[in-house]
Amino acid sequence: RAVPPARAVAAPARTVVQESFLQPQNVPADIQEVLFTQDEVAQRVKSLARAIVRDYTGKDLIVVGVLKGAYIFMSDLTRAIAEEGLPSVQIDFVRAASYGAASVSSGNVSVDMCGEPEARWEGRHVLLVEDIIDSGNTLKRLAGAVAACGAESVRVVTMLDKKGRRQVSFEADYVGFEIPDHFIVGMGLDFNETYRCLPYVAALKPEVYGGKKA
Ligand code: 5GP
Repeated sequence: RAVPPARAVAAPARTVVQESFLQPQNVPADIQEVLFTQDEVAQRVKSLARAIVRDYTGKDLIVVGVLKGAYIFMSDLTRAIAEEGLPSVQIDFVRAASYGAASVSSGNVSVDMCGEPEARWEGRHVLLVEDIIDSGNTLKRLAGAVAACGAESVRVVTMLDKKGRRQVSFEADYVGFEIPDHFIVGMGLDFNETYRCLPYVAALKPEVYGGKKA
């Protein structure tokens, strides 16, 4: 059967939509400040993807998103990796949790392999994709767990890095934006499961999450 021709649809004026979405009256009252717009994140994602493709061309790379927070960054980054020259890249997910409903890492990190055998990364180059690094506990634990699965190499890319908040020494290999100490929502990051879908990176008002973090 012949494939029907694509319907001509006018390209949406995305920038116009985004600008109106960012008007103060359209930003939720819980938000203190929009730190990075969708376009700014997209530009950064493109350059991260370029660096990743440069480093992994010719290698057996599997990109592993850390649920749930990294889901939007993971989606944007893997498509950019394909566009930049690695269309055959494979993807996978793990789940890590330490926060519960609080805004401070418990340091007690649980890693969930999403029901798949741990051996699936044996001998492969694993790139963990995280939304944000704060104390460093989650990534330190997760990178250790992946290495223990027999991965050939383990590297980390994070959209955001609160370097000043480390409790354990941990450095990501690729960092989108280094940021000061805010509680962040949007682009996958939540506060009590809300605001994940905001198409920008924003700081929550301190009075909303309960003031100063530890
Ligand atoms: P860490 O173990 O490095 O302290 O924290 C990593 C995890 O804590 C992230 O994957 C994220 O789920 C959560 N987290 C850390 N800082 C923030 C933040 O500012 N906002 C949100 N929504 N989550 C955060």
